[in-house]
Amino acid sequence: MTVVPMPLDNETCDTAVRGSFLHFLGDPDVGGDSYEYVEDGLLILKQGRVRMLVDAPEWIDFLPDGTALYDYSGRLIMPGFIDTHTHYPQSEMIASHGLQLLDWLERYTFPTEARFAERDHADEIADFFCREMLRNGTTTSAVFASVHAQSVDAIFARASALDLCLVAGKVMMDRNAPDYLLDTPASSYRDCTALIERWHLLGRGYYAVTPRFAPCCSPAQLEVCGRLLDEYPDLYLQSHVAENLDEVRWVAKLFPERRSYLDVYDYYGLLGPRSVYAHCIHLDQADRERMSETGAAIAFCPTSNLFLGSGLFDLDAAREHNLRVGIATDVGAGTSFSLLQTLAEAYKVCQLAGQSLSPLKAFYLATLGAAESLYLDHRIGNFEVGKEADFVVLDLHARELMQHRMAQAVSLDQRLFALMMLGDDRCIQATHVMGRRLYSRGD
Ligand SMILES: [Zn+2]
Repeated sequence: MTVVPMPLDNETCDTAVRGSFLHFLGDPDVGGDSYEYVEDGLLILKQGRVRMLVDAPEWIDFLPDGTALYDYSGRLIMPGFIDTHTHYPQSEMIASHGLQLLDWLERYTFPTEARFAERDHADEIADFFCREMLRNGTTTSAVFASVHAQSVDAIFARASALDLCLVAGKVMMDRNAPDYLLDTPASSYRDCTALIERWHLLGRGYYAVTPRFAPCCSPAQLEVCGRLLDEYPDLYLQSHVAENLDEVRWVAKLFPERRSYLDVYDYYGLLGPRSVYAHCIHLDQADRERMSETGAAIAFCPTSNLFLGSGLFDLDAAREHNLRVGIATDVGAGTSFSLLQTLAEAYKVCQLAGQSLSPLKAFYLATLGAAESLYLDHRIGNFEVGKEADFVVLDLHARELMQHRMAQAVSLDQRLFALMMLGDDRCIQATHVMGRRLYSRGD
């Protein structure tokens, strides 16, 4: 630390947090000073934003009277985890056995999502979903609602009550699904514009145009997506692409004039900054180049890809093309709300693909890398001055097994790797949003 201690006052500080801090300044694979670690640090906040990250022993005596102090000495504190792709209506159907993507959608997903026509049910699951996020140290998610506008109201209402940073949208689907879940291009446009007016940029909320995936969208529906992005240029767009080989073949039949699955979205103007595509497993060179040129991002969903047997994401290829990649749970095809468990599976996916995921890169993908994927790194993702103070307090000794393992782990790298391989929600001691503690283990 090069900052010289000076008296703080109530104008610059209302909250201080003590512990060991780790945050990223860049991609560890690119080199340079990619992270900062402060063994006994003090994070000084004012109105929920970061003012300074300094050495605690030098600064602790300078805190002004009335400062709220959270003492997490001995715990590891990181920026809140960011989940770049998930489905809140699928919370209840997580771990449904035995099928690949297209049958799984028909058998489990569609009937489950039908229940979100009722606002009460949507409210109940939105509340559960937000609590589960916080219990797992996740402070921002990019979320698919269901086809029903009220399901979007439910998740934004709950998130905004908690002051969570959230990206969400109404699923758009007008074909190749049961009648009870279909909208039309006209109803989609009407519902989306009303939802955008109601929720986009309200507090920490961002609206995402959310075509389920190309097979569920007619050309007219995809045109509506492009029109919404033209009319509201700061919107998000989220969808799925190239997850499963049967799906890829189906898209080729439905859109024979398009070069590839990704090209369908490209044709309708749906690639660009703030567009986030889940999976991106079965892409080719030209697809990756197009994603790179347009600034579209990838949500890497390892537990989901293994669970549905979809394939292995190629992280090295994404790196070669300088693509933005964030980690994602993809609940309910993903098998855990925990981004720690998700990182463990990401490591194994890379191993199966003959690649290696370092622990630093893994935690980058769950924090700053995910924020960059969502183009939110000016607000969240690390502890730079002025950032919104969303953070997670990790207990690396939460399990007896971890106590034994950590006793053998001498370096930061080794401790982080053991944390991501052995950790889960039991390791989350507390989760703070805009400086406020919204979850505390055992409360
Ligand atoms: Zn998904």
